[in-house]
Amino acid sequence: MSRHGIRRIIAEREEELPSSEFVKILKIAEENRDIISLGPGEPDFTTPKNIIAVAKKKLDQGFTHYTPLGGRSDTKEAIAKKLKKENKIDVNPENQIIVTVGAKEALHLSLMSLLDPGEAALIPDPGYMPYRAMAETITVEPLSVQLKMEDGFEYDIDEIKRAMEPKETKVMILNSPSNPTGTVLSKKKLEEIADFAIDNSIVIISDEAYEKFVYDGAKHVSIGSLNGMKDHVVSIFSFSKTYAMPGFRIGYACGPADIIQAMTRLKMGTTLSTPTISQLAAIEALGGSQASVKKMVAEYGRRRKFMWKRLNGIGMECLKPKGAFYMFPRIPKGKHNSSMFSHSLLHKSKVLVVPGTEFGKYGEGFVRMSYATSYEKIVMAMERLEKVLK
Ligand code: PLP
Repeated sequence: MSRHGIRRIIAEREEELPSSEFVKILKIAEENRDIISLGPGEPDFTTPKNIIAVAKKKLDQGFTHYTPLGGRSDTKEAIAKKLKKENKIDVNPENQIIVTVGAKEALHLSLMSLLDPGEAALIPDPGYMPYRAMAETITVEPLSVQLKMEDGFEYDIDEIKRAMEPKETKVMILNSPSNPTGTVLSKKKLEEIADFAIDNSIVIISDEAYEKFVYDGAKHVSIGSLNGMKDHVVSIFSFSKTYAMPGFRIGYACGPADIIQAMTRLKMGTTLSTPTISQLAAIEALGGSQASVKKMVAEYGRRRKFMWKRLNGIGMECLKPKGAFYMFPRIPKGKHNSSMFSHSLLHKSKVLVVPGTEFGKYGEGFVRMSYATSYEKIVMAMERLEKVLK
């Protein structure tokens, strides 16, 4: 049946989603083997061996059934221990933690739990692309909080207020370390945001998927650990980046019991339970040796140093990101826009970058480059870019 045939079968919520330039660019790259992709949003490393070994063993032992909605209790206990030790967040694993299918499901469930159709949520712009789509698919209006390069892509309270002018809101998504800008919010900035959230009765959904990816002595602070924030924050974490486990599809959220319980009830209507094997692998990830994590982060750090220096040397002004695994340089003066610039790089230098507008309207004038690809490929990509930009 045609899409607009006798009976409409596709809902407006899908039809109204913006078409992604990135998807088009990825398609060109797939068909062209000599393209170097600086597009990836996932680690280029494979999952550490100790985690794989446990997953295999547990499969052989028959752990192939559903788990309780919110997750296995041993997985939640391991998570609670980690949250207390590393994030300084003290929660009851029984009713304040939910194990989800990636951080993605946690984001989705938290938005669904906190907002009704027609309400609004503050999202960072430029920010992780699915925030907007997630809000729109549940008929929530995304309100862009502009993050400016001159502010180091940090959140500015006046910008948050401006974003709230068209509509009252009670939810704000915060992401530090940030995709796509690499910004790590300082404790001082987080305290400022926390005060604002308390004064305005806002719940913060804090996406901390890149918590372990910090460089140059930067420290990741969880806003949920700050004084007075216990009832104001849903903190979201992922195994995808830290342990190079994106295909295991596992993440988790913690926060006030009423919100986590609402998320848990909603999970009945989505995925029911997070893969059992992934929950068991996660216990090993948290409790086993962290040597592979250290090694991976050190390698990202090496690539970051090189790439940042090269980009600034070839006329692509870029802040030195303190976290995640992305650079977000300005496109050179005289270039039309991010989309045309990305297409032209793809054709002329066979290097794939992501147009800044994929991360929101305020991403115009920038592109995202990931260093979750080998050092050698990054060296080659920079040489190619230099030739074209000269
Ligand atoms: N949050 C941010 C900021 C991300 O960049 C990503 C993945 O790229 C996710 C969440 C999704 O993580 P997960 O694989 O755990 O769903």
